Amino acid sequence: MDLGLKGRTAVVTGGSSGIGLAAVRQLLEEGANVALCARGAERLAAVHGALEEEYGADRVMAEAVSVLDAEAFGAFAERVLARFGGVDILINNAGQGRVSTFASTSDDDWRQELELKFFSQINPVRAFQDALEASGIGAIVAVNSLLAYQPEPHMVCTSSARAGVQNLLKSLSVELAPAIRVNSILLGLVDSNQWQRRFEAREDRSQTREAWFADLATKKNIPLGRLGQAEEAARALVFLASPAASYITGAQLEISGGVSRFA
Ligand code: NDP
Repeated sequence: MDLGLKGRTAVVTGGSSGIGLAAVRQLLEEGANVALCARGAERLAAVHGALEEEYGADRVMAEAVSVLDAEAFGAFAERVLARFGGVDILINNAGQGRVSTFASTSDDDWRQELELKFFSQINPVRAFQDALEASGIGAIVAVNSLLAYQPEPHMVCTSSARAGVQNLLKSLSVELAPAIRVNSILLGLVDSNQWQRRFEAREDRSQTREAWFADLATKKNIPLGRLGQAEEAARALVFLASPAASYITGAQLEISGGVSRFA
């Protein structure tokens, strides 16, 4: 199947690691130009260098910017447009989860989490909306989580923020239609830096990585018996972002190994 991405331009937020980086690579493989951002300049520079070498410096752009800094992100968007002449795809992937119960979540934690989840959508959409409208195949795909519908009490503010974001995306899919399609993926557990950090902080230091991840899949009752790989989530992102998904908007696709309990 031809995804129709050759010569198109995509922006991937949080593109220096995990699912975002896997999506960047797949978009480049499909012939798109890609602009990526993340906060950490050092890791971003290393990733940028490797991508330039693999796919050519003319097709990749990377800048250290937070999606939460509206002004800096807007300036990044202007440079992306100046460099590639337009943008067809926006993948809102930047972020991370917060582990906390209601009792352990301070007011500041709530504010930070709500800001991260909402403004990691709002700022990039504002910055690229005009360009996406002008594209003719404009598409936004957001990375979200099953927590939106299946909250976990130990991730109370992340879960409720994710539910709100899913609601926002549905509104956007109507308001931005027909020029821009808006879809999302709902992740279960995907092996990435987030889980690597939790593995490194494990209590039983004797447990190997393989055993820790296998245990996690068992504890979480994942029907497919393992965590997902970043590439598996990225393939769904790239498909939904592509003209191959031209009649799909306002949709959410679960990438969870079957772990969701809602029909
Ligand atoms: P990683 O930690 O591997 O990647 C996260 C990426 O986002 C990094 O490039 C990070 O770079 C970047 N990032 C974080 N905050 C910002 C910010 N404010 N501005 C710009 N870039 C930022 O994790 P994943 O690949 O797992 O996560 C990708 C998305 O998927 C996240 O939104 C996460 O919440 C979501 N998700 C992941 C799940 C999983 O099981 N892995 C489950 C549910 C949702 P830097 O830190 O340098 O900014």
